[in-house]
Amino acid sequence: MTAFSTTVDLGTMVSLCKRRGFIFQSSEIYGGLASTWDYGPLGVELKNNVKNAWWKAMVWGRADMVGLDAAILMHTDVWKASGHAERFNDPLVECKECHSRFRADELDEQICSNCGGELSEPREFNQMLQTRLGPVQDDTSLTYLRPETAQGIFVNFGNVLTATRRKLPFGIAQIGKSFRNEITTGSFTFRTREFEIMELEYFVRPGEDEGWHERWVKDCMAWYTGLGMNPEHLQLRDHDPKELAHYAKATTDIEYQFPWGWGEMQGIANRTDFDLKAHSEASGESLTFFDDDAKEHITPYVIEPSAGVDRTVLAFLVDAYTEEETISANGKEETRVLLKLHPELAPIKVAILPLSRNEKLAPLAKKIHQSVQSSGVMGGLVQYDDAQSIGRRYRRQDEVGTPLCVTVDFDSLDDDAVTIRDRDTMAQERVNIDDLVDELKKRLIG
Ligand code: ATP
Repeated sequence: MTAFSTTVDLGTMVSLCKRRGFIFQSSEIYGGLASTWDYGPLGVELKNNVKNAWWKAMVWGRADMVGLDAAILMHTDVWKASGHAERFNDPLVECKECHSRFRADELDEQICSNCGGELSEPREFNQMLQTRLGPVQDDTSLTYLRPETAQGIFVNFGNVLTATRRKLPFGIAQIGKSFRNEITTGSFTFRTREFEIMELEYFVRPGEDEGWHERWVKDCMAWYTGLGMNPEHLQLRDHDPKELAHYAKATTDIEYQFPWGWGEMQGIANRTDFDLKAHSEASGESLTFFDDDAKEHITPYVIEPSAGVDRTVLAFLVDAYTEEETISANGKEETRVLLKLHPELAPIKVAILPLSRNEKLAPLAKKIHQSVQSSGVMGGLVQYDDAQSIGRRYRRQDEVGTPLCVTVDFDSLDDDAVTIRDRDTMAQERVNIDDLVDELKKRLIG
């Protein structure tokens, strides 16, 4: 058995995602909406598992963290104070012939790649998506879909502090949709106009910010590798002073080696006291922390790890993709495709497979399915599958990353035992049905 590296081209990944129900083109029956994607039955499981794993590690797994779920729509003054209304811009150039638009900082050549036409001078293009609230379509109804979840955290800083009586350092975490009117989109789910962010703001004493920045970079890296991501496919990149966002003193990106090259998966920024001060000034509400020891109010500095859910899901999929040369049951060489997803992320945790659709096997197999499913210990989908040959069903489960299959055969009717098959090694082990849930749990959770 030869295992290849996990390099997969994007086309193969896009087609696997569609075929197996991970990710579909949005509005496909109407020709699709460009760069907009829907998560299918397995995609929603994987995405939820990624978000839950992040929440578990960043909020439940730490004593210094609380959660929040702020609204997507916010008062327009928020975006004035945060600087997004004025400065959340990308440089845009437009072709004078065909009016295609490009990001000036991403151009390889100074002519239109669509028609070869002459390009305009760059102008600032605000990335915030606009919408209108209420029935009256005037300037007062104009608002924005948030481009980041962070501002919901900053404007609630006082509320959270009063409600939770936290001391510095502490953090507020949030997962949610964000919107950016990107000039260029593409590379599947990597750059879209609607996406999800897992973000936290970690409030520290001024002066302790640089040390915390370093710690968060390490902790975030450890989160990916702890869930099985190959460390060789990860790298850190510090922002050049010229590319820093308007609020940042320093930013380190965690990049993943995507099929087309290195790309940002997460940014860890030192936002200083920029946002809390800006909102204090603009709203007139003091967003400070009272230091009992020093008996003074201080405006904390903020370290912000901000990870894209969609990019993280894509990276886990790409990283898990493996092809192996194996010999099939009828002695032929074949390529086995598997997703070596960490059990915590796998959309289906266990598949229950009766050897055939024989009516004698079905009642026992269904009973086992019911008991494994209702045990809840796997914390995810337990699938019953009796369609097609057992070999094909194993391949199908391998291709969607199911860590364990349980096969119910004719011997099971007599010996009260079933076979557990491991996705990665294909090793099979016979276990007693009474011990099955414990055995599965041991293999999945450890
Ligand atoms: P990029 O340089 O790729 O445009 P960014 O530096 O603007 O990204 P941040 O503002 O740091 O991104 O956003 C935090 C995270 O949100 C990014 O690390 C990325 O994972 C995700 N993200 C940002 N923009 C998009 C997008 N258009 N589509 C999907 N995910 C995105």
